[in-house]
Order: sequence, then C-alpha cells, then structure tokens
Amino acid sequence: MRGTEADAFRLPRHILPSRYDLRLEPDLNAATFAGHETITVAVSRPAREIILNAVELDITSATIDNNRGLSHRATIVLDKPAERCRLTFPSAIPIGTWTLSLSFRGTLNDKLRGFYRSAYKDATGGTHVMAATQFEATDARRAFPCWDEPDYKAVFATTLVIDPALTAVSNTSIISERREGGKKVLQFADTMMMSTYLVAFIVGELEATVPTMVGKAPLRLWCVPGKKHLARFGQDIASFSLKFFETYYGLAYPGDKLDLLAIPDFASGAMENLGAITFRETALLVDEHAATHAELERIADVVAHENAHMWFGDLVTMSWWNGLWLNEAFATFAEMLAVDAWKPEWKRWDTFGASRAVAMIVDGLHSSRPIEYPVRAPKDADAMFDTLTYEKGASVLRMLEQYLGPTIFRDGIRDYLKRHAYGNADTKDLWVSLGRAAKQPVPTLMNGWIFKPGYPLVTVSLGKNGRLRLAQQRFTYLPTSKRSRAAGSQRWQIPIQLRVATATKRDLRRVLMTGAGLQMKVPARVESVLVNEGGHGFYRVRYEPKLLDRLLRLVPDGLAPIERFNLVNDSWASVVAGLMPPAEYLNMTSAFMADRDKNVWAVLLDSFLALHRIMEPARREVFEALVRGRIGPAVAELGWAPRTGDDDLLKQLRGDLLRALGTVGNDQAAQAKASALYAESRKNPAAVDPNVLPALVAVLAHAGDRTRYEEFFARFRAATTPQEERRYLYALGAFQSAELLARTLAKTINGEFRTQDAPFMVRMVLMNVAGREMAWEFVKANWDTMDRLYPKQGLRRMCEGVVGLATPALERDVQKFFRERKIDLGGKTLTQYLEELRIAVAFRERAGKALDRYLHAGR
Ligand SMILES: [Zn+2]
Repeated sequence: MRGTEADAFRLPRHILPSRYDLRLEPDLNAATFAGHETITVAVSRPAREIILNAVELDITSATIDNNRGLSHRATIVLDKPAERCRLTFPSAIPIGTWTLSLSFRGTLNDKLRGFYRSAYKDATGGTHVMAATQFEATDARRAFPCWDEPDYKAVFATTLVIDPALTAVSNTSIISERREGGKKVLQFADTMMMSTYLVAFIVGELEATVPTMVGKAPLRLWCVPGKKHLARFGQDIASFSLKFFETYYGLAYPGDKLDLLAIPDFASGAMENLGAITFRETALLVDEHAATHAELERIADVVAHENAHMWFGDLVTMSWWNGLWLNEAFATFAEMLAVDAWKPEWKRWDTFGASRAVAMIVDGLHSSRPIEYPVRAPKDADAMFDTLTYEKGASVLRMLEQYLGPTIFRDGIRDYLKRHAYGNADTKDLWVSLGRAAKQPVPTLMNGWIFKPGYPLVTVSLGKNGRLRLAQQRFTYLPTSKRSRAAGSQRWQIPIQLRVATATKRDLRRVLMTGAGLQMKVPARVESVLVNEGGHGFYRVRYEPKLLDRLLRLVPDGLAPIERFNLVNDSWASVVAGLMPPAEYLNMTSAFMADRDKNVWAVLLDSFLALHRIMEPARREVFEALVRGRIGPAVAELGWAPRTGDDDLLKQLRGDLLRALGTVGNDQAAQAKASALYAESRKNPAAVDPNVLPALVAVLAHAGDRTRYEEFFARFRAATTPQEERRYLYALGAFQSAELLARTLAKTINGEFRTQDAPFMVRMVLMNVAGREMAWEFVKANWDTMDRLYPKQGLRRMCEGVVGLATPALERDVQKFFRERKIDLGGKTLTQYLEELRIAVAFRERAGKALDRYLHAGR
C-alpha cells in the first residue's frame, strides 16, 4: 500500500530521498547534540511543501538547492503529535533532483530511544557516559529529520565530530580521521541502500577485540573498558554464524565490516543495525566458565539472530511494519539453524519447543492477532515486536521447511534474497520465491497461518472399525462465545506427521489435513499412535484416554524428547482450558519421573509453579510434598555436583531441579544444603558447578531474611559479569517477605536499578504471590513516574505482570485502572494481558476446588 497525503502516518510519495550526508556533534556532558544534513531528493511533481519526520528536534534552518544555482529557504513548522516537520517554500519546487539542507539540535535523552545517553560505573566507582542509538521502529526521526519509513531506502554517509579522547562506531568503516577545532572528526564510508531504522552511531570510551576475518569483513566485539575478557564466546558464535549464513543464503555479507557492541543501557535484547549491532551486556558478554548453559545459549541465540538480520531485514526489508514477521520470524528461525549447526549437542530445535509453547499461549487467546496485522501509528508498530511475530512466525516457517524439505526451502530463500536485495518485499514475494523452488503453490497452505489468528487443536480417536479419526477445531482457553462462533469453524491446512506402531513395526505417515476431519485405516493390532511426530507442527493434540494411556506407557524412551515435551505441554494447556481435570494431569506427571530431558522438566516445573500460585494457603504444604515426590528421584540420582560424562543439558537440568526443589517444593533439607554450598562457593568458586550456583541463589532468596537480602544486594552492586549482576538482581524479586519486596519495589523508581531492568523487576514482584498485591498498589501509585522513566517496551512488558493478579477482586481493580487511565499499550497488547488474567482467574475458580479435593483425598 502506498501512502497518500491524507494518511496521518505515511509520508506523501512524490519526494524520494536517495542519500543523506549526515554530520552530528554530540556533547556527552551537556547531553545535547548538534546536527547538519544534506539530503538528495527526487521531486516527481512540483511541490511547495516537503513533509518529513522529526520529533523532539529543534530545526534551525532548511534550504533546498539544485545544481543550476537555484536555492530556496523554507519556513519550518513542527507537528509534534504527528512527529513530522513541514517545510514550506516561497514557490513550488520544480521536478528534478535537489539537495535539502537542514541544521538542527537535539537532546541525548535517557529513554533509551533515538540518540540517547547511557551512564555506567567503572570498577572504582567512577561514572562515565556514552551515547548510543536505537531507531527501530520509528525513532531515527529523534536523531535527524528523515523519511522514517522502512521503504524509503537511501545511502547514509555519516560524519561524527567527537571529543578526541573518545571512540565512535557507525554502520561502516572509518574512511578519514582529522582534527578540527580541538575535536576529532570521523568520516564513515557510504552505507548500502538501507532503511533509516538501521542507522547507528555509538560514541564513548570503547574497547574492541582483535578482529577475526569473515570473508573480506573484519568482525570485532566492543565494550566499555575492563570487560574485553568477556568477549571471546560472543566473538566465536558471531564469526561462526556470519560464515554459516553466507553459505546458507548463498550471498556474501553485505557490509564492509561487522562490529558488535555491548551497551550498558539498552531497552531490548539487541538491534541489527547494519555493521554495528548493539546489545544489552547480558546478551553479548559472558565469562563462559562461570555461566549456565541457559545463559550461554541465550548469547549464542541473540548473536546468531542479529547476524541473520544482516540479510533478512537489512539487505531485504519488509515494506511496512505489518510485515515485520518477514524480518523477525525469519531471524528467529535462522538463529536456530545456526546455533544447531554450531553446537549440535545443545539440541537447539528441541529447546525451541519452549518458544513454540510460549507463542501458543498468546495465540490461544480470542484476542490473538494474525502474524501479519495492520499497523498505522508508531505505537502499533512497537506492539508488533511480540511472541506472535517472533516465535509463532518462526514455528510456522519451521513447519513449512519440514514440509517442503530443507533444501527446497533454502533455495526459495536464496531466490527471495537475490530478487529483492537492497529493496523491500512483502509476504507474497516470499511465497512466490518459495513456490518457485517447491514447484507448488505456497499461499493455499500458508495463508491460514499468517493472515488468521489462532491455531488448531487436533483430537485423535480410534474407531471400532479400525479407523483412526482426526478432527480439527480452533484451540482457545476460554469458551467460544456466540460473537466469535465464526472462529469455531476456522480451518487450517495442517501438514501432519504421525507414527502408528504395532508390536513389530513403526509406520511413519504424512498427510495434509485440509478439512474439519480425516480418517485413515490403521492395523487392527495398533499399539500406539503419535500425532505431530518430530514436534514441528504448530498445533496441539488431544488423544482419547486409551490412546493417551498407551503413549504414557512409552515414556521416556519410546518417545523422542520433543514428543514427550509436547505431550506434557498440550496436556497442561488442556487443564488450563478446562478440557482435562487437574487431578488427571497430576497423576499423569508421575509417568515422567524417570525422564531426564531438561525441556520436559521445564514444562512440568512451570505447571507445578502455576498450580502452586493458585493453591489455597492451607493446601500448599500437601502440594509441596507432592512436588517433592515428583522431583525427588531425579535429584537423588543427579545429586548436587556434575558426574563424569554429564552433558551441558543434564547439568542445566540439575540446576533447574534443585531450584524447584528448594522453592516450589519448599524442601528444607535442600534449603540448608544450598546455604552450606553457597558459603563454600564464596570461599572457593570452583566448589559449585556454574549451572547449580544460580539455583542456590534462587533457593536462598526464596527462604531468605534481611541479612541475605542485604548480602545479595551488595553482590548485585559488586558483580563482575553481566550474568552475575542479573542473577542477584532477579533474586531481589524472589524473597517472600513483604518488607523486603517493598524495598525491591522502591529501587525500581529511585535510580538503584537501571531503567532497562526496573520494569522487569516490578513485573517479577507482580508475579510473586507474596508481593503481588503490594506491587499492584505500587504500580497504581507510581504509574506516571514509571511512564516518564521507563523505556516504552519495558513499561509494556511490566504490564504483563498483571496476569499474576489472579483473584476476582484484583482482576476488577486491574480492569478499572486501565479503563479509567485510558492506557493504550499499542496493538492488542492490553486486551491480551487482560484475557490472560481472565483465564488465570477462571482457572483458579474452577481448578482450585478440584485440586483441594484431590490433595485432601490423602496424598
Ligand atoms: Zn530481530
């Protein structure tokens, strides 16, 4: 869709920029910057006005010239709500190529968007300041006036004028460095044609690693002084994944160098600026010998994800924000491919089941949205950065890849990238390329997954006539109302893989389910049927009881880990949706006591935690005993220290189980042991496995008093790695004493926690049964302060914590607050949080009593 002048959020199209020569001079101490730019524009019809984006900038002059000596000065009017600037010339600018020159000033803000300031302390406690940028989705307009929409691609030639003691990094290599009036002037090479949201500049006291060469491009990691020793792991996966993608995509890396920078204040996880990728420190820097498997996996994921974007997003960009999934779903999918190739022993595609499961929670709401969804205002563009775009998108791509075959899929991707390089593309363009490679039409299969919300529940039963019956309907947690009955008749084209086993044979079948139901003949002596073999399908499965029983008998070794994961995960979703009694589920969990798969246990432990939250306090002890019973045998076998031959996943499982035993299982012996081991690790760090240490911290916080709180707060402040800092920070939200949690809440607005972290701490206390009511009162009382202090995406994620306020009275109060304050979090975000809360309250009402009876019946 092309914008018209009447569209409040799309710029008129008769003036097209092709090049920005940009000069910026930041003053870090004064927190301001001065800028000058000349933009080469093509005018395709005479115009007296030029409209472009700018916000919170003071534009002091605007003139337009051509190469025949014509020059006009404009009057400048800023329209703050529209984030635009309107330049009006004395007469119409004729058709042709022109140079628009603008001078402006701005503030280096503290909201971690646009051109912003980040402050950090060094090892001796001295404060330092740096400046960085974050432009996606619509904040380049805060740093320089521009056509700030993804399909206005242009070349950017940046010059930074900085303090000679500092260093600066931008998208491309430095081509000249000189002194000018006591300042250092750095000129960067021209970028390729790219979108404004990918421009970046970082200025500060920075240190870089020795580069590794990937093809012709030097690759380095950057950080603030004193942290370079934490860069090796990140550099390894960065180099590996960049090479991997050059091969997979069949195209060389499109930049002239690649810098990856750790920024002390950073709102999201990372940002794929071409050639200058920025990260929060926890997503890039790590001491690999002191980190857990999960912490290392996260860094590998994020680094590979951003590198994947250099092609998918940077080289080929979605035309508009409705198609954000083309960037993000693909980068998420590609991140798995690269990490799986780097460390096959991590079984990355199995762990991806957990991401798929998170997407299925949101997509199980009536208020879910299609992956591709209309966007107009910047707020709605921001709301697109969610689990549906990333994880559901990646899941359906994986499903399609497995259906078409990995080689055909890859060939389609190569075709798409070659055809649209340096340009923009839409979903239909991807379908055309994949269809060309697959020699079959892709839209019929895929449109239901991309352009419609939700996903199917496939029910499986065995008829007396030796026929297996499958039926599909949309899965939702709450019943379908009359209003949304249309959703009840929604159908998907589901590529189904299933395994039919008899005593002597395992038979793998593939079918494309297109209608409401499907039948197939199976042998008379069928022993088990497993639907969603391999686990790639984005749907849930519900078996009739006798088929479920037969599958449970195969646990653990007769089913693949991802199949066991899906069995537990789908069953748990059925419980929350009221399709399976909680007692039946709890009985079922005993079948998994001999399981040693980290992901299977993750879903089991999450469900125990969810049940513990809704438990009547009087029943908690009995439930805790049940949890100890389920976990106990695995802990007894694995112990507290690694055994020879334990792989990374088993080490992580040990940590996860110990944490659960000491928290949701409230095991006092485990708490005492954790305390002793922790004390030992303070004397000798090598005494405790890195995967176990965070579990000890979590257990001790759960059982901890004021002395422990103060100890952990001090350790948070003195932490020497980003992971250690994060670990002790999060521990401060896990205490059970109201007084201590109140102290944690106070730190979220008094500057003791960084604003990149503070909203997540509030969210954590909202989800903590011991502190949730107090946290909610705190949010209501301090909303305006939080709105002023926190980055916008942080504030949005904080609000998700209301899902923890699962009582009818709190639910009413939450709804009233958001209604009265007229709070809009963009897109459907708030509606989704409120529906999740509704589900939690309904579940508590329904399951609470059933659980009560179950636990009372002498367990
Ligand atoms: Zn991304």
